[in-house]
Amino acid sequence: MNLNAELKNLFNRQLASWPALRDRYDSLKQARWRLLTGYEPGSATVLVQFNPHRYRSSAATLLPETLTQDKCFLCVENQPKEQEMVKWEGYKVQVNPYPIFSRHFTIASLRHEPQRISGRIADMMSLAKSLPGYVVFYNGPHSGASAPHHFHFQAAPCCEMPLCSQIQNLPSDSDIKSNHIDVCREKVFTGFRLFTLGRVMYYFSCRHWEDASEWFEKLQSQLPASGEGEPGQNILCWAGSGDNAYNLIVFPRFRHRPQCYGEGENQFLVSPASVDLGGLITLARKEDFERITVDDVMKIFCEVTRSDDDAQQSLQEIENEKQKTLAY
Ligand SMILES: [Zn+2]
Repeated sequence: MNLNAELKNLFNRQLASWPALRDRYDSLKQARWRLLTGYEPGSATVLVQFNPHRYRSSAATLLPETLTQDKCFLCVENQPKEQEMVKWEGYKVQVNPYPIFSRHFTIASLRHEPQRISGRIADMMSLAKSLPGYVVFYNGPHSGASAPHHFHFQAAPCCEMPLCSQIQNLPSDSDIKSNHIDVCREKVFTGFRLFTLGRVMYYFSCRHWEDASEWFEKLQSQLPASGEGEPGQNILCWAGSGDNAYNLIVFPRFRHRPQCYGEGENQFLVSPASVDLGGLITLARKEDFERITVDDVMKIFCEVTRSDDDAQQSLQEIENEKQKTLAY
């Protein structure tokens, strides 16, 4: 059986045998939504979801010393007895018990080992290839990961992550979509840096996973490492066909949380990660959901991702390295 079919069975089995899980997926169907649109013609849009079940995740104190005191919720011995798994390579795929999406899976290492993307980008692309119609996403240890001590990806339907369908159609004028990435040997890819709704991102799309992997490693070498030994980042990866067989978006991060983070009067309980930057902002407090505007979103995105100038500089460094190599 292919992985897609196995996960469909797992999902149905878990909903049938685990009432609390079924209730959370059912309540998601009643969730309230708002659509926020940027100012440029043809601009990206962002969906805002009111999701009270995410309160614990949004308000968690993500300091390593406090997290180690808790039992790791991705280790089998600490999981509810109802939680099942499907094994895939060195990972276990499980239904996420606190969903943002109509189908939401967590793909965690079978072993308790730290959240580090190094050496795993090929796994991420292979997983995306095995799950057509799904986007696989990764949050760096200080960039929104709720379990930074236990390696994990997540996956959700592509059609529910707004940026996956928007990325190819966003305005292509030079102010918005600029600096084509030209760093690989073969011309079988497209890549660009994009600055939209205040967030900066690198997009890369190609026919062969090796090209995406090579590009990713070059990018890693040019992004500044955070205190955790890898660049602060969020990554989206999904499979397509032909020249877009593999699609990667990397959001280089500047900080973990926006300055407006908090529960005060003019603050928002929002701790952006892959899903938020991918265009689906989940808010656990009703008042935040009702008052957030597109200007707030742009400010939040702008504060947590690197500046556009810095992002451009990293691409220039990659290009400089390439020219040096060619000169020899
Ligand atoms: Zn663990």
